[in-house]
Amino acid sequence: MNYKMLNISKNLNRADSVAAWRLCMGCGACKWACPNHAITLKNIPSKGIRPLVNEKKCQQCGACVVVCPGKGLEHKVFSKEKINELSDGWGPILDLYEGYASDDNIRYMGSSGGIATAIALYAVEKAGFTGVLHTKTDPNCSIVNVPTYSKSRNEIIEACGSRYAPASPCQDFDKIKQTEGLSLFIGKPCDCAAMRKACVRDPELSKRVGLIVSIFCAGTPNTSGTIAILKEMGIKDPSFVNLFRYRGNGWPGLATACGDTGKFDEVASKNVKIEKDGCRTMTYSHAWGEILTKHVPLRCRLCPDSAGEFADIAVGDAWYRDLQNDSGRSLVLIRTEKGRNFYQQKDFEKYITLENTKYCALPDSQSSVYNKRCHIWGRLKVMMLLNLPIPIYRNMNLEKNWKSIPFRRKIMTYLGTVKRVVQKKWKLPIKIE
Ligand SMILES: Cc1cc2nc3c(=O)[nH]c(=O)nc-3n(C[C@H](O)[C@H](O)[C@H](O)COP(=O)(O)OP(=O)(O)OC[C@H]3O[C@@H](n4cnc5c(N)ncnc54)[C@H](O)[C@@H]3O)c2cc1C
Ligand code: SF4
Ligand code: SF4
Ligand code: SF4
Repeated sequence: MNYKMLNISKNLNRADSVAAWRLCMGCGACKWACPNHAITLKNIPSKGIRPLVNEKKCQQCGACVVVCPGKGLEHKVFSKEKINELSDGWGPILDLYEGYASDDNIRYMGSSGGIATAIALYAVEKAGFTGVLHTKTDPNCSIVNVPTYSKSRNEIIEACGSRYAPASPCQDFDKIKQTEGLSLFIGKPCDCAAMRKACVRDPELSKRVGLIVSIFCAGTPNTSGTIAILKEMGIKDPSFVNLFRYRGNGWPGLATACGDTGKFDEVASKNVKIEKDGCRTMTYSHAWGEILTKHVPLRCRLCPDSAGEFADIAVGDAWYRDLQNDSGRSLVLIRTEKGRNFYQQKDFEKYITLENTKYCALPDSQSSVYNKRCHIWGRLKVMMLLNLPIPIYRNMNLEKNWKSIPFRRKIMTYLGTVKRVVQKKWKLPIKIE
């Protein structure tokens, strides 16, 4: 795509303009990068976590967009050793496995085998890492996430499980930079891309990052998505809930809300079950497929990297397996030499069980993610022609992915994008306040 044809990123010179043009996904890296402490983050239930800039403090230096994954993604070098059969649609992959936490409890609690948690435990208990920067439930509100730096086994396990709601772990990169020794970072693919950009900008941070682990992510729903789940569960006020899980406790597990059950309403929806202890549950497929996906922001619909291409190790669900008869398994993508060296260390198998798998396990498990990637080139072309700011993606093979889809689908993508630009008023920036 000829990005120079139109000055498409002309408006994206500060974090709040990225957000105004709907290209922010709330990672928080801009807040960390701002040398003048001009940025605060706000969780807007209908939009996500977004940056607010204090005009009095801002010096227009642009540091916030240098680390911003919303503005664009770029692969510099692809390893020559990558698995060629997968490289067109999935970024660099050196080795592909299936795996799960060797500890049955962690496997049970985790989203899809507890691998991310088990890697964190191995890093701290065996590989000499000081701690882990990742995301957990806000102790003050069970439907909100906060970044957390975990050092102990209990702290790491407390953050186990996928939270399908906004999270900004990148705002706390300084926790890694200011901690002696190596730290592990766990985040979504865009969080990991922000970490890579931040490491280029800040060698001190880079020195302290021992490993970057990405969980797969097809989209982060706004908090309004979680509120919609609660509503269907008959829970009017999130403050009635003291525990909210999106999944886990089995694979893929149930969305579960517990708390002041006496205040919960009667439930009309056949998709909600009232458990013996009064907690309300619904299946993961209903919560994600029917509710949360309706609350995913535009930037996620333009995201080509749902499989953690900028991480050292990426993990996602092995959805091709039989959900009824499996205790949870993750696909484990080793993306860099650093990732490979990490899993080849002593006693790794005591924490994580890895098994060889077929290359087709990845496309068979994540067809919707690949399908989305194939349409992005066309969506961006339409937006570019309509002179809308778009994210710039380099060396990601998106044109080739686009060419692989049938002509009819291409036309539908063009028309559908034009329709959405008009209906959703994307030509107008949104006000974040
Ligand atoms: C928003 C979102 C979208 C997802 N989309 C997909 C998908 O398209 N395909 C797929 O296969 N799987 C998806 N998942 C699930 C997840 O990628 C897999 O289950 C993955 O294999 C992790 O499982 P695990 O058991 O190894 O992780 P666990 O051991 O349960 O650990 C999860 C780790 O992720 C961190 N984390 C949780 N929520 C967030 C968050 N919102 N932001 C940043 N870090 C977080 C936690 O701190 C923890 O360290 C999604 C998860 C989320 C949060
Ligand atoms: S995507 Fe991240 S870095 Fe970019 S504006 Fe949003 S919060 Fe800031
Ligand atoms: S332009 Fe510079 S000073 Fe202004 S918000 Fe961004 S990083 Fe901060
Ligand atoms: S879909 Fe992409 S942009 Fe959206 S939260 Fe997930 S990794 Fe980030």
